Amino acid sequence: MPDTTTVIIGAGHCGLAMSRCLAARSVDHVVLERGEVANSWRTQRWDSLRLLTPNWMTRLPGYAYRGPDPDGYLAAGQVAAMLADYAGASAAPVLTEVTVTSVRGAAGGYVVRTDQGTWRAPTVVLACGAAAVPAVPGLARLVPAGITQVTPAGYRNPGALPPGGVLVVGASASGIQLAAELHRSGRPVTLAVGEHVRMPRTYRGRDILWWLDAAGVLGQRYDQAGDLARARRLPSMQLAGSPGRTVDLNALGSAGVRLAGRLAGIADGLAQFSGSLPNVCALADLKLGRLLDTIDAWAGTAGERFAPTVVRRAPLGLDLRSGEISTIVWATGYRPDLSFVEVPVLDRKGRVVHDGGVTACPGLYLIGWPFLRRRKSSLIDGAAGDAADLAAHLAGHLDALAGRRIRSAS
Ligand SMILES: Cc1cc2nc3c(=O)[nH]c(=O)nc-3n(C[C@H](O)[C@H](O)[C@H](O)COP(=O)(O)OP(=O)(O)OC[C@H]3O[C@@H](n4cnc5c(N)ncnc54)[C@H](O)[C@@H]3O)c2cc1C
Repeated sequence: MPDTTTVIIGAGHCGLAMSRCLAARSVDHVVLERGEVANSWRTQRWDSLRLLTPNWMTRLPGYAYRGPDPDGYLAAGQVAAMLADYAGASAAPVLTEVTVTSVRGAAGGYVVRTDQGTWRAPTVVLACGAAAVPAVPGLARLVPAGITQVTPAGYRNPGALPPGGVLVVGASASGIQLAAELHRSGRPVTLAVGEHVRMPRTYRGRDILWWLDAAGVLGQRYDQAGDLARARRLPSMQLAGSPGRTVDLNALGSAGVRLAGRLAGIADGLAQFSGSLPNVCALADLKLGRLLDTIDAWAGTAGERFAPTVVRRAPLGLDLRSGEISTIVWATGYRPDLSFVEVPVLDRKGRVVHDGGVTACPGLYLIGWPFLRRRKSSLIDGAAGDAADLAAHLAGHLDALAGRRIRSAS
């Protein structure tokens, strides 16, 4: 059984950032990856996807974008290539095509079983992705046969869907981007809208993320957040990686996408939408206004304000048996897959209980989760700070273990 000091599970940007920070502290480690480096960017992204974060925000420990287009947005394939280069430049000890099948507690640490053998280590970092699998609501079971159902992880392009109308469920980043693309392809699109985070692409002449970065909003620490549990559940921002172009509900509505409320149920083939669309839109408008106030306070002067979201007659029902809808896209979010974790760190709902990525099981860490240690923790730009903090904690834990060993030997 090979031994190492730290097993990192997952070679996405978080696992690689963690590897870089551990290497800087001379902590012996291995990164186990079930696919290739940047597996999720290679296998779970649609063809046209571009990062919604501008290139200058593509920062990792020891790496910053130095290309010719700092204000552009990388395509998924470019992200995969960038991460592969980063792994190479870091000489990250990645073992690819190795799937971790269980993590169990053992004397002095953990036993990590894989389909290629077993590792023993005093410390383990779960960098296996908070957005590993699409979260599809149970009511998908009630969709009439004959309607194609896809998730953003499986969707590739409009041409791969059967002809006909599309119901996109969910209006966060993935939902609004796919609704816009499907509508541009000439299909009638209905977008079911629940709670969402409205965001203009540009504000006061700059990318909105420049303002959120500069004003310290993205860097806000987890121990300073008012309602952390709620902040961790917030949907992704309604942004697309298209320079200067805002893809909010007003843009989609005026282009011809039909807006409906949250999909509340399906009964006898009838999709039922909540009547709360005006309220959720008013709430999103209000929160956007507050965010812009924060930016203005930081900037010292008032900026422009955006027109309220226009809600035209929203349908309350849609007959899924009428032939009008041929495809449903479940853009209802993602969840982690921690089925291989066999140590008591999960709550009743299967979520990891942690304090800024430090679990209650000594030596077991988590990285890449929403608002893990900072508001930007789930973004590429959030990994550097989180990995540095967790590497420091992990090194402290190893020192404590070594101290205990010396004391018991003397
Ligand atoms: C559609 C989409 C668009 C996004 N756009 C942006 C964006 O524009 N900008 C931005 O900053 N962030 C974006 N994000 C958020 C975030 O950057 C990505 O989710 C990112 O991939 C997360 O990185 P990660 O390293 O935490 O996880 P992942 O990239 O998911 O990496 C986890 C790795 O662990 C591996 N793994 C999982 N289980 C096992 C196992 N049992 N054994 C071995 N290996 C395993 C997986 O194969 C994977 O390679 C986006 C996310 C999504 C879903």
